[in-house]
Amino acid sequence: MQNKKALVLGAGGFIGGHLVKRLKKEGYWVRAVDLKRHEYNESPADEFIVGDLRDPKLCEQVIDQPFDRLYQLAADMGGAGYIFSGNNDAAIMHNSATVNLNVAEQAKKAGVKKLFYSSSACIYPERNQLDPKKPVCSEESAYPAAPDSEYGWEKIFSERIYLAYARNYGMNVRIARFHNIFGPEGTWTGGKEKAPAAVCRKVAETKNGEIEIWGDGEQTRSFLYIDECLEGVERLMSSDFQGPVNIGSEEMVSINGLVDLVSKVAEKKVNIKHVPGPLGVRGRNSDNRLIREKLGWAPSQTLEKGIRETYAWIAKQVTENKK
Ligand code: NAD
Repeated sequence: MQNKKALVLGAGGFIGGHLVKRLKKEGYWVRAVDLKRHEYNESPADEFIVGDLRDPKLCEQVIDQPFDRLYQLAADMGGAGYIFSGNNDAAIMHNSATVNLNVAEQAKKAGVKKLFYSSSACIYPERNQLDPKKPVCSEESAYPAAPDSEYGWEKIFSERIYLAYARNYGMNVRIARFHNIFGPEGTWTGGKEKAPAAVCRKVAETKNGEIEIWGDGEQTRSFLYIDECLEGVERLMSSDFQGPVNIGSEEMVSINGLVDLVSKVAEKKVNIKHVPGPLGVRGRNSDNRLIREKLGWAPSQTLEKGIRETYAWIAKQVTENKK
């Protein structure tokens, strides 16, 4: 029997890189596409095509057959420093929306059998995330829409692109809203890194025990380890449920709490210096009632376990970069 075929768009990125590895282990033939090759691993993909999905011609070339599975992870994204500064708003909207419009159209033409789209917790309205202790992120609370960033607006627009293709052309789509995914082999420096990687790097790098944190550190988030994210994606893809559904952790922590956890794992005493910086919403946590109901499963691993894996990897990068 021929191998099933998967196409991973955004395979040079953090989640895409891990996904390609997982699909190869599961026996898929994999085509990978990205603007760039993966920075931290040699991709095991059967084909790795470097190209720009904003170009409809490139989309035609790479989505040229009815793949069993297409995973659309390509996006212009980064952590708070990239998304909330305001300087990248037009690029984020133009780049990611163009990719999604191209991919949906070409996937329809090629008769792709099942398409996964990675949306984000950033689509949830700011009004429900003002209280750091009680953020509301249940799936239906997305409307009336009022994300706090253009990144979030593009994501909710693109959810609707895929839902419209499903409605009008019978496209078989699955949509997940990821909540802060982290782990080894992700961006850890340079300005696009997210909170867990940034905190691990700062703690690994500090000489005098002091690290800078944006804001008062009382803002809350939850963070999901990459392996559980991919488990959720696989379960969603194998189910009949279209989504959108949250894939995130319900273990909410303040940024100060995250620093405490990382310093415990690093066995370092750390003092926080609070400085002004871009913040995002006050509180955010995954609400896993729908995923439990529809898939009979939800992430359960502790944050500490994932932080141990991630800190070890980032501390190694910090040491090697100094050589
Ligand atoms: P990432 O930035 O590491 O990966 C995205 C990849 O897309 C990058 O390698 C980038 O080069 C590629 N890309 C961007 N524009 C492209 C283009 N025009 N043509 C080809 N490739 C292009 O991000 P990630 O953390 O792996 O996230 C993957 C997906 O999941 C993204 O869509 C992101 O918005 C979504 N998501 C991630 C998180 C998270 O916490 N990591 C949370 C919510 C949603």
